Amino acid sequence: MFNISPIPALQDNYIWAIHDDRHAAVVDPGESAPVLAFLKARGLQLSAILCTHRHHDHIGGIAKLREVYNVPVYGRRHPNNPHITDDLQEGDRLKLDTPHIEFGVIDIPGHLDDHIAYLAPGMVFCGDVLFGAGCGRNFEGTLAQLHHSLQRLAQLPDATRVYCAHEYTAANLRFALACEPGNPELQQRIAATQQLRANNQPTLPTTIALEKATNPFLRCTLSEIIRTLQQHGLTDTAELAVFTAMRQWKNHF
Ligand code: FE
Ligand code: ZN
Repeated sequence: MFNISPIPALQDNYIWAIHDDRHAAVVDPGESAPVLAFLKARGLQLSAILCTHRHHDHIGGIAKLREVYNVPVYGRRHPNNPHITDDLQEGDRLKLDTPHIEFGVIDIPGHLDDHIAYLAPGMVFCGDVLFGAGCGRNFEGTLAQLHHSLQRLAQLPDATRVYCAHEYTAANLRFALACEPGNPELQQRIAATQQLRANNQPTLPTTIALEKATNPFLRCTLSEIIRTLQQHGLTDTAELAVFTAMRQWKNHF
């Protein structure tokens, strides 16, 4: 058995620790110090590092962690992420012994070309592609790829817990409300999120069900959302056109 704990890092990152009572694997360690402090406080040894993508706020702690723990680093090999020891591709299985867990690997391009997600029953670690009530920026590849990646994640079972890499939910909800002011589930989520943040609690993990109900980037076929975007100049109401207009609007919201 294992637990999953958020380790807050940098401005608004979460490094997710998957741990039993002796070992921990960490996802996207953008910093080493908070990981080392977490391990020390709980008496754990680091057993593996998983990377979703090569942005510095996700890999910046790896070199220091590996000076202390000579552990494998899983992810997609790239000149900008020289730490990877085990290159992963779509369809690969990643079996960890300690903690005991097995992941499937899927490609979710659209934030970066080589962004991957780690899937296990009831959970997904999706880095910077799907966020609470939002999605990542399109730095590489096309918005069609980002849309497709989000759709793939949205097709996971409703109860799947979604471990995003940033605490962006509150800001994303302000945009979601502008898209869809009449969605009562959105109103509820805003109240719940304010409560959590007032108590300095993470709003994550979220679930696929909650994202489908409140994340505008997964709701591009809804008439209220299409109407809002039409008021901002949208003419083509095809799903990808709506998604594209929404992502562009969010960039300057
Ligand atoms: Fe990123
Ligand atoms: Zn990031």
